[in-house]
Amino acid sequence: GWNEGWIEAPRRVGAKITPLIGAHAHEVIATDSTSPNIFKLVVAALQSSERRTVLSEAGNFPTDLHVAEGAVRCVPGARLEIVTRESIARSIGHDTALLLLTHVHYKTAQRYDMQALTAAAHASGALVLWDLSHSAGAVAVDLNGANADLAVGCGYKYLNGGPGAPAYLFVAERHQDRLANPLSGWMGHAAPF
Ligand SMILES: *Cc1c(COP(=O)(O)O)cnc(C)c1O
Repeated sequence: GWNEGWIEAPRRVGAKITPLIGAHAHEVIATDSTSPNIFKLVVAALQSSERRTVLSEAGNFPTDLHVAEGAVRCVPGARLEIVTRESIARSIGHDTALLLLTHVHYKTAQRYDMQALTAAAHASGALVLWDLSHSAGAVAVDLNGANADLAVGCGYKYLNGGPGAPAYLFVAERHQDRLANPLSGWMGHAAPF
């Protein structure tokens, strides 16, 4: 495994996903499943900010809210604010560290305007984590075109990865030095040995 390139597979497979989501090869890795990827990015975003609120939508996919609920319990002072879909944009406030949103809704197929909401979040100093599970492979996505910060998605829906296929996560190049993986196992550590 060490000598036959398996260790690089998360980057290699991640790079193959990038044309579908508008990212650079070094911004995406195929790893874990969607839920732990959300956990890692929510905690990393909170730890990189003075702000303590994660903002999400009441109708978000269940695991996204369950994971966010657990993630905020791990960060002192952090809280999860859940509002209606219609009031997301106007609920971004001075304490909002992160918006956690699913780009294409799993029941209604309603789609957020990724570029506009990302711009609104940035204007008030917040980041956005986009869940692309119902987007990648189904509709065009341009993360860098929208100046996106963070994203996750599963590999087993429109990417046809089959049962047990890993998910992926995206971290925009500009955030890579600032964000630390809170699951610091050896593969998540700068110095594995
Ligand atoms: C399918 C789906 C998931 C799945 O999460 P897993 O951890 O892979 O089970 C997460 N978020 C959304 C929006 C989904 O559609």
